[in-house]
Amino acid sequence: MPRTADFHSINEVKKPVDNRVYHNDSTCPLGRVVMAAGEYSLGKNNYRLCRDCDSRNGPGR
Ligand SMILES: [Zn+2]
Repeated sequence: MPRTADFHSINEVKKPVDNRVYHNDSTCPLGRVVMAAGEYSLGKNNYRLCRDCDSRNGPGR
């Protein structure tokens, strides 16, 4: 699995706090959209890990 540095969309702040996520996998569909748009910042920003990234990171977190 192609792990990347933690990053999050700069648009997450528009979501309710509980829905904000960060990504750490370059194959995550949502993460790729964020990356392609260039609308991201590095780091977790205290968000939870995106569900797609989580499943790509493998079981047993
Ligand atoms: Zn993701």
